[in-house]
Amino acid sequence: MRKVLVLTEAKAGNLRGVSLEVLNAAHRIAEGGEIIAVAFGSEATHYAHILGKHGANKVYIVENNELNVYTTDAYLQAFRQVVDCLEPEAILMPHTAIGKDLAPRIAARFGLGLVSDITDVQVENGEVLFTQHIYSGKAFEKKKVVSGIPFATIRPNNIPVTEIKTTIEVNRFHANIKDLRTIVKEVVRKATGGVDLSEAKIVISGGRGVKSSDGFKPLQELAEVLGGAVGASRGACDAEYCDYSLQIGQTGKVVTPDLYIACGISGAIQHLAGMSNSKVIVAINKDPEAPIFQVADYGIVGDLFEVVPLLTEEFKKV
Ligand code: FAD
Repeated sequence: MRKVLVLTEAKAGNLRGVSLEVLNAAHRIAEGGEIIAVAFGSEATHYAHILGKHGANKVYIVENNELNVYTTDAYLQAFRQVVDCLEPEAILMPHTAIGKDLAPRIAARFGLGLVSDITDVQVENGEVLFTQHIYSGKAFEKKKVVSGIPFATIRPNNIPVTEIKTTIEVNRFHANIKDLRTIVKEVVRKATGGVDLSEAKIVISGGRGVKSSDGFKPLQELAEVLGGAVGASRGACDAEYCDYSLQIGQTGKVVTPDLYIACGISGAIQHLAGMSNSKVIVAINKDPEAPIFQVADYGIVGDLFEVVPLLTEEFKKV
């Protein structure tokens, strides 16, 4: 039995889905032990019950005015105090912008090893085994922690969400935060679509084949009809057809949606590194020799400006 500490995340006051995936991973390794969810900011009182429905036994709502907006320094100080107080036997976090920033620092402060960006976790003979993709997703390896406590960040959209009802205890934890080196004065958010790209179940991606920023419009329409998010290749970003926040690949976001539709993307290895583990891949490309067809489950050889609107019309009928 292990006491597992889970960092949860919210966006605009709503719990992010990946938090529930992390709770399920925690359930697997707790083996009947306690699962403690940590939530930053008092708005967590609104969603604490959801954590209880997904296996958390306790929620620690960490409060301090400095935690209303994420800064590395403030969150690090607060999370360190939580770890000192609760002495967990395993720590799990989402592999999101916050998790990626915080986890290595927590690992360094506590002298722990960190297995980052894992896609699966199991316990075999009492040992925790984390699965991590390597060589741009071409292979995977299973890692066990040989000293210290298991500590990992979890890639969104890989571990299923399951309902595990528990009786939940909600605690408030006041973090002492001092000597901040960074203070956020204002947050200016970019207007993006409703669905978060890293967590989207359906991603419609455009490459240099879309030819202009207007060329993304048919993709956006399809994404709207399917309730998905729009992504891009670096080719499209470099050509200034879209923002770099949409870039998928080795130097962009890694996504694992149920459905990935690549439109006008050649399928360079660096792009595949960010999407090849999607459950179903559809490629639309007018070049039948494009390498993207080698990883695609379904390939459509054709002009994306003809094919994508046809798909949108058909999906509207469903
Ligand atoms: P292209 O390779 O130019 O392909 C365009 C495709 O569109 C072609 O296959 C063409 O047949 C098709 N097409 C054209 N018109 C149409 C049409 N009307 N209908 C249908 N199909 C059409 N790339 C990434 O994506 N993500 C990364 O994170 C990334 N990181 C990199 C890191 C490094 C260190 C390096 C060196 C490169 C990286 N790249 C990355 C770049 C990568 O190597 C490719 O250059 C890039 O992915 C190509 O983008 P593309 O497929 O959109 O463009």
